[in-house]
Amino acid sequence: MILGKCRSCGISLDGMKHIGSDIRLTGHTASPSSACPCCGKRSHRIHSYRWRHLQLTEELSCHVTLLLRVRHFYCGNPSCQRKVFSEPLSFAARYGRMSHEAASRIRSESLSQPARAASATLERQHIRASSSTCLRVARQLGAGNPDVRTSGYVGIDDFARRKGHDYMCAAVDHYTRQVLAVFDSRYGSEITRWIASHPEIRLVSRDGSQRYRRLIEAASPDIIQVSDRFHLMKNLRDVSVELVRDMLGERKARMRYPYPTEEEAYRHIRDDILSMGGARHRERVRLYYRIRGMRDAGGNVASIARELGIKSPKVYKYMSMDVGRLLTEEQRKLMKSARQMAQVIAAGTITPEAVARKLDGRLPTRLVCRSTRTLARQYAELRRQVREHNKALPDAKAVRLKTSTIWHYIMTGETSSRRLQQTARTHPLAEKIMQACISFRRMLHAERGAPDVTEWIRQARECHVKEITEFAEYVRRDKDAVEQACLTNYSNAVMEGTVNKIKAVKRAMYNRANVEILRAKLIYGGNKMNWNYHLN
Ligand SMILES: [Zn+2]
Repeated sequence: MILGKCRSCGISLDGMKHIGSDIRLTGHTASPSSACPCCGKRSHRIHSYRWRHLQLTEELSCHVTLLLRVRHFYCGNPSCQRKVFSEPLSFAARYGRMSHEAASRIRSESLSQPARAASATLERQHIRASSSTCLRVARQLGAGNPDVRTSGYVGIDDFARRKGHDYMCAAVDHYTRQVLAVFDSRYGSEITRWIASHPEIRLVSRDGSQRYRRLIEAASPDIIQVSDRFHLMKNLRDVSVELVRDMLGERKARMRYPYPTEEEAYRHIRDDILSMGGARHRERVRLYYRIRGMRDAGGNVASIARELGIKSPKVYKYMSMDVGRLLTEEQRKLMKSARQMAQVIAAGTITPEAVARKLDGRLPTRLVCRSTRTLARQYAELRRQVREHNKALPDAKAVRLKTSTIWHYIMTGETSSRRLQQTARTHPLAEKIMQACISFRRMLHAERGAPDVTEWIRQARECHVKEITEFAEYVRRDKDAVEQACLTNYSNAVMEGTVNKIKAVKRAMYNRANVEILRAKLIYGGNKMNWNYHLN
């Protein structure tokens, strides 16, 4: 840095001063004339002078500011709207408070790390930018999706911003691997609009979601859709492997502990609750419910009285009675929680202590015990039978096949497990299902002699197993995309990597990043060459 005139930036430096650890430069613009930003006509006529304070990049390990005297010119063009203009600078933006170089460093640091860390890094580079500035810069960059041309081959996938709450969607180029766009919603119409605004897009890969299929179709029915192979295989695995394992396993021989259904449990609990109290009370409650049942079935006072052999005023009294006043306080309390108690028991909890715990202590164990008395008696007997049955089995320890063994067989067509080798003889249905899975895998990998999609759907339906038929139906609904998955090499693998990156960025910001910041960091961060291009 030399005092004097600089050709490239068109300014002349007049002085330099150390203020603490800062360097303050003063200077003025050197060119005799300047061009009007509106009409381009050059002007020599000076209107006035102004001072501009600009932050520069470091010099001599110091923070540098430039105090620059700039001029305002009259525009000499009579047809120009502008009468007076300030001369533009080659190294700083209009109204900018820093040089392009300093601004670009702030941008790149803000994109590559969290705001506070970026601010600290910039401080070490002798550039002053608060963490709020860094955050604002990133947010401004990510205000919208950039208008870029794609290679025409795009993958889209959703990811969680907050798992179970809000989801977002990202689009990635299959060839450049660049994140092209980040959307605020998972299945919003903005995705359709974005695809429609890129007529060069020929192919979109996605997971098997029907909603994505409709979104892409709405944008353009000509776009080739590719269902992701991994997701297809995973879905098949989810429906088939457990099913086959249960068929081949010892479930038939080994009995499992029985649990009542919710309705059954509720009925028993209700009966137990209503049979609490003394004989007279029980009789009144029983009569009340009997009369109510008959009334609900369409009986009137006279017919009910006749059938029960009591006087009609008594029937009338019971019909207009408030059940809350009839039941004791304990009964009322229990009735309130009866449905939930039934749900807990049906879900596989049987001892009164555990049930009471699951009800968050709303009922004391004593009352739970009292209201589940019939159930407990009934199921204690059933459980004893199961225990004895299982104990009597000759090979009580028979191990169920590992899911990985079954999956390995489906993925390779070979197995070392003797039980799997014999399934064709011992469990023909399980063998049929596994063969359907193997054909599906071969079809997806486009192996020689593999069936086409229509043929596979027919093969799957022939198993006559609900889960497999449902999967075949899912494939049928998305047939074109599955066919493309067999024919082309595109898959959502590139998306999975991107989603991992998104999660890393998100977590580095303690999950507080909003869509603008995520978008800025994903689209412009990392690849430092490209964001200047995107910004023009
Ligand atoms: Zn002008």
